[in-house]
Amino acid sequence: QTDINSVLKNLGIQEVSQAFSTGSTWGGTGSLGTLDSYSPADGRKIATVQLADQEDYHTVISQAQTAFSYWRDIPAPKRGDIVRQLGDALRHHKQDLGTLVSYEMGKSLQEGLGEVQEMIDICDFAVGLSRQLYGLTMHSERPHHRMYEQWHPLGIAGIISAFNFPVAVWSWNAALALVCGNVCVWKPSSKTALCAIACQQILAGVLKKNEMPEGISSLLISEEFIGDLMSNDKSIPLVSFTGSTRVGRIVSTAVGSRFGKSILELGGNNTIIISKEADLDMSVIGAVFGAVGTAGQRCTSTRRLIIHEDIYEDFKNRLVKAYGQLRIGDPLDQNNHVGPLIDQQAVAMYIKAIEKGKAEGAKFIVEGGALSGEGYTSGCYVKPCVAEVENHYKIVQEETFAPILYLIKYKTLEEAIKLQNAVPQGLSSAIMTLNLREAELFLSAAGSDCGIANVNIGTSGAEIGGAFGGEKETGGGRESGSDAWKGYMRRQTNTINYADTLPLAQGIKFNL
Ligand code: NAD
Repeated sequence: QTDINSVLKNLGIQEVSQAFSTGSTWGGTGSLGTLDSYSPADGRKIATVQLADQEDYHTVISQAQTAFSYWRDIPAPKRGDIVRQLGDALRHHKQDLGTLVSYEMGKSLQEGLGEVQEMIDICDFAVGLSRQLYGLTMHSERPHHRMYEQWHPLGIAGIISAFNFPVAVWSWNAALALVCGNVCVWKPSSKTALCAIACQQILAGVLKKNEMPEGISSLLISEEFIGDLMSNDKSIPLVSFTGSTRVGRIVSTAVGSRFGKSILELGGNNTIIISKEADLDMSVIGAVFGAVGTAGQRCTSTRRLIIHEDIYEDFKNRLVKAYGQLRIGDPLDQNNHVGPLIDQQAVAMYIKAIEKGKAEGAKFIVEGGALSGEGYTSGCYVKPCVAEVENHYKIVQEETFAPILYLIKYKTLEEAIKLQNAVPQGLSSAIMTLNLREAELFLSAAGSDCGIANVNIGTSGAEIGGAFGGEKETGGGRESGSDAWKGYMRRQTNTINYADTLPLAQGIKFNL
């Protein structure tokens, strides 16, 4: 039995938290009242948080601006050392933070701990990066000239995040943004406010120990309007948004219209192609984990399986058998495979999607439905389900953030790739095959159009070393590894003349 009260205590979460934090300082006018956080696992109220208002917002932004002038002058490797200490603090708090993620968001404890591990991993990555923010040097076409490029911080990095990765997404952004010399202002999903408070407390402790000023990392707990203020605020040069395509469109339009930068990590509609040359045992595990992990609430959750006609019936039967073995219940109980959805509104959306699918002709081979009774009293538990569909159904073209898996049959790989690409989203994709030609075609320019394309692993569960993100309506942003750090900086090209004349580029003559 997990003692949630001691978890909250260890993470410094009070019964009623204030609306904003600029580091060690917490505050809030209280004008907008409070928000209660309930666990989808058992429906209990966990704690209460005040909501930040416009005045709180301006307090936070002005503190962040002041802090930026200080933070940008600290050498990048020293900033990296502070992020290293954040990684150490997260190691120390891993069990408690992972447990809170599981209890407040509803994912399994293993996945909650995995999320914290990702935070630790990105801190390690960012420490190395802090000594590798490389620019290039170029040869000038003019004599006695030198050209190079350098990367400067942007200023305030605004982070708006979704409920389903309540801690990792912040750290992907914050660890990189901080080593790059930016300060961060975070508006988390109000559905997972306590996870955000815990992260902020952990980083604030590290910053305080290093005698850093307030405003390097700030948190605002509130409703959507704070996200709207951030999107329209010229003092926030970068908005990194993770969430639905619907809201991403609003945010990117606002940020774009003021020529700000945005990193967009939006919805997915992820597919595994199961070839007749696949290892079917492995494919079943990949497909089921991808579809039901985090109760289908990952941006990379597997939503469609495109299966070769020769193995379709065999694979379908294996899948039905595997679904029959799933245990649904308390995410903190490690015997369960599937936890709850985030709230009852998500359950209603799931039910509606099933109805819409049926109306369009979907044939359910594993029936869905909401669960009630003992162990399910929060009203947030649903049955993972599987339906045979056609790719063009409206509901199949959409991302339903729940464990609904669609099966589609194919004859040729070209046809399978065409089907997989024929959706508006472009996040994650995979092929299960032992055939090299098939794998390479899938990864080629004529293959998957997604930001992530895997062979013989599923669509979900990326490592931090690669750039993470997707194409089309997934938004085109990249976070985490590779050179994603460039999204948090501005590039400056410098030309230095050390001659005693002033030759112009392209040989242009200008004599006075
Ligand atoms: P959401 O779009 O409802 O909310 C995301 C964030 O935006 C929240 O903090 C919310 O308060 C805020 N917000 C809402 N309206 C706003 C507005 N008008 N202006 C500014 N901010 C506003 O998403 P959600 O339900 O929390 O999360 C699920 C979605 O996130 C799914 O679509 C999922 O695929 C996506 N997601 C994508 C990635 C990725 O990396 N591509 C990762 C995680 C989640």
